Amino acid sequence: MTALLWLRRDLRRADHPALVAAAEHGPVHPVFVLDPRLWDSAGLIRRGWLAATLLALRDSFEGHLTMRVGDPVWVLGELADQTRADSVHLSTETTPYGQVRDARVRAALGIDWVETGSPYAVTPGRIRKPDGSPYAVFTPWARAWREHGWRAPAVEPAGLRLAGDGIPDDLEELLHTAVRECPVELPEAGETGALRRWESFREHALPRYADRRNRPDLDATSALSPYLKYGVLHPRTLLADLHGPGSERFATELAWREFYADVLFHQPDSAWTDLRPLGIGYDESAEDFAAWAEGRTGYPIVDAGMRQLAGTGWMHNRVRMIVASFLTKDLHQWWPAGARYFLDHLLDGDLASNSHGWQWTAGTGTDAAPYFRVFNPVLQGERFDPRGDYVRRWVPELAHLPGKKAHTPWDQPDGYAHGYPERIVDHHEERREALARLGATKENR
Ligand code: FAD
Repeated sequence: MTALLWLRRDLRRADHPALVAAAEHGPVHPVFVLDPRLWDSAGLIRRGWLAATLLALRDSFEGHLTMRVGDPVWVLGELADQTRADSVHLSTETTPYGQVRDARVRAALGIDWVETGSPYAVTPGRIRKPDGSPYAVFTPWARAWREHGWRAPAVEPAGLRLAGDGIPDDLEELLHTAVRECPVELPEAGETGALRRWESFREHALPRYADRRNRPDLDATSALSPYLKYGVLHPRTLLADLHGPGSERFATELAWREFYADVLFHQPDSAWTDLRPLGIGYDESAEDFAAWAEGRTGYPIVDAGMRQLAGTGWMHNRVRMIVASFLTKDLHQWWPAGARYFLDHLLDGDLASNSHGWQWTAGTGTDAAPYFRVFNPVLQGERFDPRGDYVRRWVPELAHLPGKKAHTPWDQPDGYAHGYPERIVDHHEERREALARLGATKENR
């Protein structure tokens, strides 16, 4: 009997526990269902990266990737009938939408439903305090995560038999169009590209990752997030490969991804609402938002970050924090507006990491203390881009300013000689305003 392997956020062949489980039943029929609910709401960047990833996945499966468009309930029902499959295998999904969808499909299918593994080293929901309640703070959670541990990478059984009729011509055309229309240059898609990047990072950047990972001017981080988003690489594959300097810190960053997925699992509403509401008022200026989104705030590191995002579909983590702080604390906007914009423009856009990265910066998230922290965009720029290289790379109007002068065009006689915009707000004033709003609520509490 054929086993269907329904692929979602596990678009790979290597280290794939659900594939291994399916292979025990007989020929494996890998399936991807293009769900119009997700595809229609995706921007050009998300579509382009998914399309490129699926084309590479088809090659990983030697052409045997069946693809259909439609509601997974009826698509999988139809495929199960056609192939006379008696089981469907999948990785456990724990996002709010994924859980609801899977419950509907499972109820409708009427064949064996076998979940094995998840997109995480430890499935969200599994790490709990001794009394069974979920952790709310990262550090003790990460300690428990390490103590819990994870399995070794899954090994594909010898003689795996694949079935499946491939991607139909009209869908193949749809995928190629999505890749062509993608406004940013995509990284090399698929497992080969991901592993190549991983090898290069391990060799060149991992040993100094702990002290250089905050430097946006250097190629110091793995840039694997777009691959982890669709499960092209499993984090367990990475964890199993980690040795030597930098490894500990890198594992901690992977733990952040797992922690945020865990928080979202326990509190699905935290995707779009405050985990810990501050009870403050927010502004809604469309003009300010556009200046932020288009990299025209007049603050070099903020504008460099937003232009890096627009130009590549990716932004360095330190700069994500700086631009998020600017939108929420200097422009006083509510974080979901920025989170939505990020999701539409990031290749790695991931509900849990994105919403909780934003909530952390906005002071509404999991971190207990620093709701009053306001990043100073100039000091952050001078500290983490000390030579100004990152700013000059992304803001050509400042390319003539040497060294860290690129961070303070207002102090340079020719700072505005090439059309760089004036600051849209005064950071010191807006910092006071942000603290006043927060202080006011503290008194009210
Ligand atoms: P590396 O430094 O090489 O880290 C390795 C991996 O660890 C990353 O690929 C990622 O999976 C994980 N990781 C690292 N830092 C974090 C973190 N702070 N939170 C969660 N996981 C982390 N990450 C996303 O994958 N998708 C998002 O949509 C996303 N949105 C964010 C929004 C904001 C406002 C902030 C502050 C952070 C966001 N992050 C998001 C987290 C982080 O910025 C990216 O994961 C990281 O920049 C990816 O680059 P990298 O692969 O080179 O990271």
